[in-house]
This record gives sequence, C-alpha cells and structure tokens, in this order.
Amino acid sequence: MRVMTLGQLLSTVRNKVPEGQGISGICAICQCETDNGIALKKLVSANFTSWNQLFVGDIACPYCAELLADNIYRKKSWWVSVEDGFATFKNDEALNVLFSPPKPPFYIYIAKRGQRQVWLSALYKINFSKDVYYFSHENYIVPLMFEKHSAKAFLELIRKAREYKITKTELITGELKSKTIERLLKANLQSLVQEIKRNVKNPLWEVIVDVYRD
Ligand SMILES: [Zn+2]
Repeated sequence: MRVMTLGQLLSTVRNKVPEGQGISGICAICQCETDNGIALKKLVSANFTSWNQLFVGDIACPYCAELLADNIYRKKSWWVSVEDGFATFKNDEALNVLFSPPKPPFYIYIAKRGQRQVWLSALYKINFSKDVYYFSHENYIVPLMFEKHSAKAFLELIRKAREYKITKTELITGELKSKTIERLLKANLQSLVQEIKRNVKNPLWEVIVDVYRD
C-alpha cells in the first residue's frame, strides 16, 4: 500500500482539498514534491505557534494545506478513518474512542484547549492496528503510543484508585496526600501506592487519567 500522510487521509475522507496556487517545490509539512503548492503565509495566521514542527520551506502541498486550512482540526477532538469517515467527539467520549478506534487506517486526536497543532508531528503515523497505534493529545508535541494491554491495566488501576477518592492530580504526580495514604493503609491497599508511583511520567498513563470519567 502506498504511504498515506495525515493530510491525504483527512482531505480524501472529507473530500475537501484546498485549491493549489501552482507553486512548485517541497512541502514544508510532509516534505513531498508538489507542483501545486500553496504559500504557507496564506494558510497560517500571525500567531501561528507551530513553526518548530515544520520543515524548512514556505509552501505546503494541497493535502497538508487542508490541515491548516480548517480550524476544526485544532479546536475539536476528532478521528478519521478511510472506512468510517471523519467525526469530532467530546472528551467525555475519548476513553471509549481510544479503546474502540475506527477501522484502520485511522488516526485519533484529542484536543484540550484547542490552541496547538501537535498532529503536525504525526504526518506519517497513520495506523493499521487497533491494539497498538499512535494518537495525538494536545498536551504532547509528539505522537503517543496506545497499547491496549497497558491501557487496560491503567484503567483498572485508575478505577480502583478513584473508589478510594484518590484525585487525578495525585494519580498524575504520584504524590499522595497523607490522608489518602492513611485511607489506603486502613483498607490494606498500600500496594496501590507503589502501583501508582510506577506509572508517573508515563504519557499513556497521564492520558488515561485525563480522559477517565467517574
Ligand atoms: Zn505536504
């Protein structure tokens, strides 16, 4: 199968490719040659903050231009799939989307504040497996790996921790309040403390905590 970029996937599925300006050169986003490039300055606003994610150059091919032309990719959480199409989703549904992604090839993006375009670093991360795959989350500049097996274990641990009123901040930092530790000791669950600490700084753990809903 031919390599498909995220821009090609999105613009093909949504059947919208921005009109090129006929400029020849190398696309600053996917690094492919194009003879129908569009000037980057036409696509990004003065407060564009993701220059560090682009390659050298001042044009984008029409497929990559789509990534910058439509604000929906920045403002909303979304998934895209050749077979299932394109959809935005609320972050209350993110956990479900991660565990039940659309049919491959696909990509998933989770937006938080809608300010960064971190999927620019995921151009060549289109997925062909539902059990181990890349996705993007606005808090992380690089694509993250979802492994169903680890994610399931994380989810069980988070559920258990939330039953004992451990906060999301405690889960992410691993710094449990003394009252929390007391509560766990009483319940004979001191092993939970180590289990939580072991996952600190693991991006997938942080994301599962973030999208978890009680
Ligand atoms: Zn391109």
